[in-house]
Amino acid sequence: MKCGVDLETREVEELYINIDPIQAGGRLTADAMKAIIAYGDGYSVCDNCRKPFRLDYIKTPPVDVFHRDLAAFVHMDIARVVAGARRGFQAVTGTYVQKGDPVLLSALSHYTEFLAIESQGGIPLEIPKNKDNLITEDAAADKIESVLRKYGRAPPLLFIDHFDYQYGNEHQVKQVIQVAHQYDIPVLYNGAYTVGILPVDGKDLRADFVVGSGHKSMAAPAPSGVLATTQERAKEVFRTTRARGDVTERTFGVKEVEMMGCTLMGVTLIGMMASFPHVKERVLHWEQELNNARRVVDALLAIEGTRIVSEYPRRHTLTRVDTTGSFDRVAQKHKKRGFFYSSALREHGIAGLIPGATKVWKYNTYGLTRAQTEYLAHTFVDIARDNGLLVNGEW
Ligand SMILES: *Cc1c(COP(=O)(O)O)cnc(C)c1O
Repeated sequence: MKCGVDLETREVEELYINIDPIQAGGRLTADAMKAIIAYGDGYSVCDNCRKPFRLDYIKTPPVDVFHRDLAAFVHMDIARVVAGARRGFQAVTGTYVQKGDPVLLSALSHYTEFLAIESQGGIPLEIPKNKDNLITEDAAADKIESVLRKYGRAPPLLFIDHFDYQYGNEHQVKQVIQVAHQYDIPVLYNGAYTVGILPVDGKDLRADFVVGSGHKSMAAPAPSGVLATTQERAKEVFRTTRARGDVTERTFGVKEVEMMGCTLMGVTLIGMMASFPHVKERVLHWEQELNNARRVVDALLAIEGTRIVSEYPRRHTLTRVDTTGSFDRVAQKHKKRGFFYSSALREHGIAGLIPGATKVWKYNTYGLTRAQTEYLAHTFVDIARDNGLLVNGEW
């Protein structure tokens, strides 16, 4: 079936269990699918836009209420929708970072944080990870001190990822924020892998900014996301335009500079909104998601020679695993070489693994049912056994 001349329909989610780490939390809900068909046209949420002409004031559909609900959802004062977490980062760096400023992030930070700093001419500086691949408050304090010595001033901003994208490890967010605040450094909490899949309380963490990704973790179309902040910081990051036409003397009302006026004007926003009630509900079942994740980890650990490289026991559904001592040993002798593994998974109905990867790889069990979890766990074990690897325990 085709969507257009050269466009095949996408059917991976119908035909497979997809364990691609970046895709698990962004799968649309049925309500989002319906809503995006109805609101697929360009500026579709603008039908009833009235004075003062800004996205977050629109009443029909209830975009205004959604903005308030979003802020409450992450326990912050004010929220705006943005075109991906990265645009949330950029709004914040655009406000606080000047050319030549040192800005802190971590050795496990996402590349988009580097780019958001670079786009303002800032200098990204990494807080190192410890031997357990964790970012600690001590490492943050040391790095701040070293920046103070070298630059003679504190960084204007610090990024901390609650769970990083490489290991899915949980870092000392609350403590790092506390340390940064001792130096009056505002902190951006990167919730790309948390907001929308587990409960996030920005007030409790004392975050200055909470950023989430709609398409990674809120069952929304790309590019979408949220930037939430405090009343105090909102005045800065959501400042309104002061521009004036020198010929026409036009002014532009309440349009916010960092938001370029309005952000998500159609399918992305409506997708976020339609999924939101489901997202609010699903964060309450994070423990069940962790149980599923741990079940699959147990299966992998039963395969002789396999190591879990992420922190253990798991606190997130994204896990990094090293199969150099198991599946990669098979690959050395297999006629398909490294591709034997991803293709065996495909044959068993599992998608989302990088083709050819047999050494270190990652996967995400988020959103799988218990039955799918059991099936996935047993599939790993079955592929191991079929290829002559030893499996310990009752599998
Ligand atoms: C995916 C990811 C991002 C980027 O999110 P977008 O919404 O695609 O911009 C940023 N940080 C982390 C840690 C991520 O995993």
